[in-house]
Amino acid sequence: MSRSWDRDVVAGFFAPLEADLILKIPLSPTNVEDTLIWPHVSNGVYTVKSGYRFFVQEKAGSWPSLQAQADTPSVWRRIWGLLVPNKVKNFLWRACKEALPVKTNLVRRKVLTEDICCHCNLKAEDGVHVLWDCANLSAIWEADTLWLFCRSKKFTNFYELVGFVLENGRNLELFAFLAWTIWSRCNQLRTSNKPYLLSQVFPSAKQLLQDFTQAQLAISNLLPRPQRQPPKWEPPLSPLLKINFDGAVFKDKGEAGIGVVVRDSHGMVIASLAENIKLSSSSDEVEALAAVRAV
Ligand SMILES: [Zn+2]
Repeated sequence: MSRSWDRDVVAGFFAPLEADLILKIPLSPTNVEDTLIWPHVSNGVYTVKSGYRFFVQEKAGSWPSLQAQADTPSVWRRIWGLLVPNKVKNFLWRACKEALPVKTNLVRRKVLTEDICCHCNLKAEDGVHVLWDCANLSAIWEADTLWLFCRSKKFTNFYELVGFVLENGRNLELFAFLAWTIWSRCNQLRTSNKPYLLSQVFPSAKQLLQDFTQAQLAISNLLPRPQRQPPKWEPPLSPLLKINFDGAVFKDKGEAGIGVVVRDSHGMVIASLAENIKLSSSSDEVEALAAVRAV
């Protein structure tokens, strides 16, 4: 990528706020020319054969990435439906898409030259390593029986791990907060001198989850209850007739009245009645009289 953004080009394509954000994205310190890459071959160079294969397999639904997308809508639905703040959902989605600025990604983009994890100095820092696999994190994940599978099970990427958490009914909300807090800690250690003890991660994530759940509960208590829909009048099936009747009491006037409507299967009024009657002692009695008149 070029060493600096062309401000005029960016401003020409995006709204001022978006353009500002784009211009703030740090670029590679090394001078690398922009190139077009065809993602479906290993060397990135388009060939007619690979293009043809792409379209044939796309049509058959067997292209790996498309197949993966077809298999996984429920994972994305679950992530976006989680009861966590949007920033945590967004983080989880980016981690699953291997889109976090972890060292392996930064090396690929030529921002860094080496990708060794600075916490364990043993393995490359990719998404699943920095959030789950790193030996440094065993104190967090092994502290709760929910995550004890971390000792026995290996995952090649973060998406696979989230899939396992979902399939096995583990608490994905707590998992999301834990991963998000681990990532926040990494960033804080990277960008400031403020200490952030590993032992703070679990209580902090748990507190965040608790605070968010309570806030949601408070909001839902403030919201008006959904109104029940009044029953809708339906015409009877032909050749039946439907009779609606009612009685009303007007105590201040010392009067009562009854009403009857008879309708057919088209909702057309076949017969109707409106009658003043002697004031009864109870409204139930007026209703009963209306029923008698209807019959
Ligand atoms: Zn590590």
